[in-house]
Amino acid sequence: MAGIINGASTTDPNKILPMKYPWARTHYKKGVANNWVPEEVSMQQDVELWKKAGGLSEDERRMIMWNLGFFSTAESLTANNLVLAIYRHITNPEARQYLLRQAYEEAVHTDTFIYSCDTLGLDPDEIYNMYLTIPSIKEKDDFVVNITKSVFDPNFTTEGTENIQKFVHDLVGFYVIMEGIFFYAGFAMMLSMLRKNRMVGVGEQFQFILRDESVHLAFGADLINTIVAENPAIWTPEFKQTLVNNIKKGVELEKKYADDALPRGVLGLAPASVKQYVEHVADRRLERIGLERQYHVDNPFPWMSEIADMPKEKNFFETRVTEYKTGELDW
Ligand code: MN
Ligand code: FE
Repeated sequence: MAGIINGASTTDPNKILPMKYPWARTHYKKGVANNWVPEEVSMQQDVELWKKAGGLSEDERRMIMWNLGFFSTAESLTANNLVLAIYRHITNPEARQYLLRQAYEEAVHTDTFIYSCDTLGLDPDEIYNMYLTIPSIKEKDDFVVNITKSVFDPNFTTEGTENIQKFVHDLVGFYVIMEGIFFYAGFAMMLSMLRKNRMVGVGEQFQFILRDESVHLAFGADLINTIVAENPAIWTPEFKQTLVNNIKKGVELEKKYADDALPRGVLGLAPASVKQYVEHVADRRLERIGLERQYHVDNPFPWMSEIADMPKEKNFFETRVTEYKTGELDW
């Protein structure tokens, strides 16, 4: 039977119709509906505030630098993972079509940090080396690289239960931990700046990236859940425990990163709340792929899902609360 993986002998990758996985099509269409490019966003206010002596506090400046430093290289890491490691193992054409869309969006995200560096006049050697020079950033990147080693082995195949487990293990590393947890302390920090009407250009770029990433994550979870449904023998208690342990380790690294980027907190944002948000988000991810919640904490930032759900055309400050779509993101 042709599944979403291991279908090479029975699936023609050029024949997309009829479709077997309509959810892949839905995510593709959502991605297209979110289309944007960084130049649409004005950086005028950001440039003035960034360059004005005393315009930003030292703590705000650090928080912004840490997030630009992490995201500037994380976006390329994600794009490389997709194209070099994941794509060749996904044999279904509509799922591949989505991966191509996602790869394009990662290119747009990479472009966003080029645009931010250019407009704010940042030193590229500083920003693009932070993944090496800042230990809390390096540890996150190293962790993802280490738990996704199997798929990068040129001899790796997804044949057999053990190899399918390895593949799902690595997909959880990419989609659930990297895109689903490691991006989210940064999203909360940068969107809290947007809410305060400070660095609104950078804030809006992060808002658009968040909206894209929530679709990447939803696709990743559907992909993982489909592989598990088609290969139920992989879903053993031991394997599930390994995944939970990886996710918990990811949460610890993300909380460490939050403490480093935001050591004292800034107006409207306490480090303890950011860490609680990371735990809340991790529970949502665990549930989405059929694993048990580990933290059981409330969402300290309900405004995060409001921002993510808002139609792109609407500016945060022009939108009244009553216009927000209700309900949480479809993670
Ligand atoms: Mn991205
Ligand atoms: Fe992504």
